[in-house]
Amino acid sequence: SSSTAPPRVVMIGSPGAGHLIPVAELARRLATDHGFAVTIVTTTGLSDPATDAAVLSTLPPSVATASLPGAALANIPPDIGFGGTIFEFVRRSLPHLRSLLAGGGGDPAAALVCDFFGTSALPLAAELGVPGYVFLPTSFAMVSIMRRLAALHADAAPGEYRDLPDSLPFPGGPSLLLRHEDMPDGFRDWNDPNYAYVVEEARRYARADGFLVNSFEEMERAMAESFRHDAEDGAFPPVFPVGPFVRSSSDENSAEECLEWLNRQPARSVVYVSFGTGGALSVAQTAELAAGLEASGHRFLWVVRMPSQDGNAFAFGTVRGEDDDPLAWLPDGFLERTRGRGLAVAAWAPQVRVLNHPATAAFVSHCGWNSTLESVSASVPIVAWPLYAEQRMNAVTLAEVAGVALRPRDDGGFVTREEVAAVVREIMEGEKGSTVRGRARELQEAASRAWSPQGASRRALGEVAAKWKAAPVNDNGEGA
Ligand code: UDP
Repeated sequence: SSSTAPPRVVMIGSPGAGHLIPVAELARRLATDHGFAVTIVTTTGLSDPATDAAVLSTLPPSVATASLPGAALANIPPDIGFGGTIFEFVRRSLPHLRSLLAGGGGDPAAALVCDFFGTSALPLAAELGVPGYVFLPTSFAMVSIMRRLAALHADAAPGEYRDLPDSLPFPGGPSLLLRHEDMPDGFRDWNDPNYAYVVEEARRYARADGFLVNSFEEMERAMAESFRHDAEDGAFPPVFPVGPFVRSSSDENSAEECLEWLNRQPARSVVYVSFGTGGALSVAQTAELAAGLEASGHRFLWVVRMPSQDGNAFAFGTVRGEDDDPLAWLPDGFLERTRGRGLAVAAWAPQVRVLNHPATAAFVSHCGWNSTLESVSASVPIVAWPLYAEQRMNAVTLAEVAGVALRPRDDGGFVTREEVAAVVREIMEGEKGSTVRGRARELQEAASRAWSPQGASRRALGEVAAKWKAAPVNDNGEGA
């Protein structure tokens, strides 16, 4: 075999910038710090080519990309949801993945790293003698709930599903519980079209050789410890916290209107408001949030997105008209009345630069995990306003485990203007606000230590890389 070629790692990258950005960052570190040749496999027809190109174009030459053929999308049942569609896509693409992993005459890959939706490839990796790892671009909490789901179905026949209980113990604090309503979408109800896929994914987790999570020790300390014990006891594969992977601000344009506006605001005075790339507020909630920001009396920078007309908080992939103007949905006179102390921008802001700007004081966030880590890395406390996917669980981690967020009360998902104003004032001026602001400073220091030369996340990835290099390669089936 060609022993001079660098060892190869094949990574599966699910669609969406929120998935692909941390996958790209992991690939970059494996290539530049550990000498691997990495192939990131994307999903043609499901991912947005412009997003893929933007994220993948900054990678070093030793990171290649490959794409699973879009033909695998044919006849996927329309009712299985976005997650189910990705699961199914990867499952149908196994023959293609097989040739990528086997290496066609050269050495087989040193490792497969699949993500949340790609674990149907784990048995294939095992068959080829390739270590199979799962990279979750989120938290330990996600691995934890997947384990619960698998345990609940340990003796269930395929297709026989049970609901998760009303609450789960959440390792991370004394008597901390994850309530049923805070569990991720797809996990709360066995009738959900995604539930079957999530259960089958979860059942495969015990057979992974290891997990990588985009988190760090101090973020979820008790979780990290409990997983370490379980790995030592052989009760569950090891989970390596290798984060936080966040984008660098140099990836963003610095000549934006909102940065110029921030330059004119006093230090630590502005509340940044954004709900990520896939979230949408209802029309009524958009108006209520506006009224609450106005009533708070504080300065704000709000990235306004098109409200959802049908009340669905998940708008990823929704087709937008060219003339859609989200600012047109703000209450009459709102922009005039708040001129000078508030700025509303349509659709997009250079978020990493905004969070690291000295004028930014707090972040009203949907708690997407990338936004969460970007805020933590910038020492900005959070008002947690989760919308969909696993964001409610992230909000619990932020508010109750990490202690860097306040959570507004909501009434059936609706947050009143009074509550918006109160929680904004609290995080800016209040006593509880002072506690989370202090915790945000501590956690920022811990986050920057994680990737310092002797940092825990850097060492964890080094440990994984060493395992992959040492693993006996099953050379063309002739044994190790
Ligand atoms: N983002 C941005 N500007 C915006 C909205 C989002 O730069 O106006 C970036 C943000 O910094 C983050 C990503 O898009 O890196 C969103 O990922 P996240 O996991 O927070 O949420 P998602 O959009 O996947 O729900």
